[in-house]
Amino acid sequence: MPGFEFFGAEERKEVNDVLNTGILMRYGFDVQRQGIWKSLELEKEVCKTFGSQYAHLTSSGTAALTTAMAALGVGCGDEVIMPSFTFVASFEAILSVGAIPVLVDVDDTLTLNPDAVRKAITTKTKCIMPVHMCGSMADLSALQEICAEHNVLLLEDACQSIGGTYKGKKLGTIGNAGTFSFDFVKTITCAEGGVVMTNNEDVFTKCDGFTDHGHDHKGVDRGADLHPFIGYNFRISELHAAVGLAQIRKLDTFLGIQKRNHSKLKAILSTVPEISFRSVPDAEGDSCTFISWFLPTEEQTRKFVAAMKEQGIMAGNFYWYDNNWHYIKKWQHLKTAGTLYNLNEEQKQALLNLSTQTFAASDAVMSRCISTAISLLWTDEQMEAKANKIVEIVKSIL
Ligand SMILES: *Cc1c(COP(=O)(O)O)cnc(C)c1O
Repeated sequence: MPGFEFFGAEERKEVNDVLNTGILMRYGFDVQRQGIWKSLELEKEVCKTFGSQYAHLTSSGTAALTTAMAALGVGCGDEVIMPSFTFVASFEAILSVGAIPVLVDVDDTLTLNPDAVRKAITTKTKCIMPVHMCGSMADLSALQEICAEHNVLLLEDACQSIGGTYKGKKLGTIGNAGTFSFDFVKTITCAEGGVVMTNNEDVFTKCDGFTDHGHDHKGVDRGADLHPFIGYNFRISELHAAVGLAQIRKLDTFLGIQKRNHSKLKAILSTVPEISFRSVPDAEGDSCTFISWFLPTEEQTRKFVAAMKEQGIMAGNFYWYDNNWHYIKKWQHLKTAGTLYNLNEEQKQALLNLSTQTFAASDAVMSRCISTAISLLWTDEQMEAKANKIVEIVKSIL
């Protein structure tokens, strides 16, 4: 999964280009920067690599989601449908624009269950936000159909699936907008950063302004820019963009290694008939940052996790069901509306209602799921040893 495993001379070169001019900001200083525009260059590279018409960089993936929602006009009173299994950024972004997160079940794709989405649609639904978790994708055809039927927006959180595809198109470029995160553990990293991709010029222009205090970037200098709307500061710096530029050029290498390791790992795990695998709506398009698999029961899965921990080899394997960060079960701060400031009443009620909502269908999937992260650095021997150890432990607890 993480591009930081392949950090080297290329990243240093790009960063040094910026350090040599001393212009660390992406806007202005046209003379002093001596033609160095890393953020612009990375945006062009994102468009080219992923086949998106427009791309705008942000300071993080969370900022990218917030920006995308603002640019799509999602705000106060609007409901956004999101999955019960995701990263906390999903609801953070929704709440930050004043909208209401509506959490629905995932299925064995580990992403939004389209039937559950359909049931959650109301007259207030403004946007469906699938999260392509752990390298692979949601059933986008089914979700697109629902969006068209109900005139609802589709925002793809592809933060964890950089380079994945669905029916030949890159994840993150299929909805009205899509986002990547370039944080430190993502497939390509800037240390901190993100991007909004869209094929809609108006959405792009709004992202461009929103991330920079509403500046329209048309003035002769920043003081002369107009502010057609209120924005924030979600800008990326040139130093971060420089790292990203070196990383994006390595993406094909990363994906090649991931896919190769994924298929070898899968072949070894498949020798155990009790192990089943995550459903992937388009198997060709899995970015293979993780391999996610299931044991038949929660009890067996817990035994497996306990045995792995006892042997000190759980690192790199994730039991999301007990994780404080990724699953509704442990999001106490969300379910108690634990914000530092007053939420609007509708948001607050929606959050408090979550504490009585049950997610039995998600529990049934997540309680049996293990995700094994795919390293870019494994030798074949190391990978086989890890896989064989997993197989040995699974066999011992069945
Ligand atoms: C990492 C991540 C984000 C947020 O990205 P940051 O850059 O860390 O803010 C959003 N959604 C998902 C699914 C993520 O994994």
